[in-house]
Amino acid sequence: MSPLIDELISNNEFPTNNPIFLNSNIHKQIDDLLSASKYPIVVGGTNYYIESLLWDILVSPPTSVTSSASSKMVKDSLKSRSGSSSPEMMQREDDRDGDSSTPSDEISDLELETMSPKELHDRLRQVDPISAGRLHPNNKRKILRALEVYQETGIPISEFIKEQRSQPGGNRLGGPLRYPHTILLWLRCNQEVLNERLDKRVDSMLHNGLLPEVRNFYETYVKSQSANQYTKGILQSIGFKEFVPYLEKFGADQDTIIDNFLQNIEYKLPKEPIASEPEGLDLLRKCLDELKLVTRRYSKKQIKWIQNRFLGSHDRQVPPLYSLDTSDVSQWMANVYSPAVDIIESYINERQPKTTPMESVQHPGSGLNEEVLNFCEICKRHFVGEFQWKLHLASNKHKRAKDGLRKRVKRLGGGTIGGRGDVDGSSAKK
Ligand SMILES: [Zn+2]
Repeated sequence: MSPLIDELISNNEFPTNNPIFLNSNIHKQIDDLLSASKYPIVVGGTNYYIESLLWDILVSPPTSVTSSASSKMVKDSLKSRSGSSSPEMMQREDDRDGDSSTPSDEISDLELETMSPKELHDRLRQVDPISAGRLHPNNKRKILRALEVYQETGIPISEFIKEQRSQPGGNRLGGPLRYPHTILLWLRCNQEVLNERLDKRVDSMLHNGLLPEVRNFYETYVKSQSANQYTKGILQSIGFKEFVPYLEKFGADQDTIIDNFLQNIEYKLPKEPIASEPEGLDLLRKCLDELKLVTRRYSKKQIKWIQNRFLGSHDRQVPPLYSLDTSDVSQWMANVYSPAVDIIESYINERQPKTTPMESVQHPGSGLNEEVLNFCEICKRHFVGEFQWKLHLASNKHKRAKDGLRKRVKRLGGGTIGGRGDVDGSSAKK
């Protein structure tokens, strides 16, 4: 698990938003290795990938329901527990089994695409109120996903999630740990070193054929798509979307001119524009700078994510996580390799490794409901989760807005607004 990100690969053709797709194959490979008494070692991967590899987590139910064993299991299980499944749901299931026609309440993809986030959220509230209650109305991607699942299966995504969480070892984050004897090695380095490495990696992309790759991807998959397809899947992955401004403005001819220019200066792109440089290079430079920025941001997010989901999980089975410091590469043997070997051998020989696993941390919001949507009537904003909601109610921004409203009401002679406790957030401490 490294903060260096796979998404940097500019023509990554994996559906990165669908870890289950990736996992269907890797789980078989792992099982094969285990049954041959070999130790599977998985290197790299995004956090979502690692999470759905280790836990039976429903990050994203497969689009094609019939093609997925895991989804079928959930469906079968939902069917067999007829006592707890709603009769209405069973009915819909039966309808679909016997009749392939579109259910009457289905909305076409085209229609969904033209709907505003609010309309989509309202629609989701109708078919899957539990999911609607968990998702921010602006989270169009997840709302669409939930609607898709409902349309394709006739089952709200929240039912799939509920089923999975109810398995032994399951919890609010998903199902149980798939492989009970797992060790996690986290290769880390200090933030400065990390930023430098990330920048270098972006810089080396030009040398490694970035331009032909993104051009090819753009010509093949993107040009023909409608504008709102840009918000979906691979097109949003880091390492491609940053180059769209350049790709749209310049063509392949300019790529060649720029590449020839860069070749002559050994791909050492000057930080600021120089007089002799070809047209388009400055825009490309800006795209690369943008990529550096989002990559840094993403790496910080990943680190936070590990802290929250691995170290801050109070109710989840988490394998021991060991931090290995890669900041000084000249100390690789002492700081990374030897401790890693010792940790792995210790586990095999059932003794205590010299390195201690990272300690779990208590997130200030742990224990609070993360899956509830609150709306502040004063600020006209939605908040997902009790933690964010409490932060908001205690924030100066909210207090100022509340005072402003109170003054306006007074001026208008409206008296107090104290009677609307739920509206002004009086449940929070004052
Ligand atoms: Zn507010």
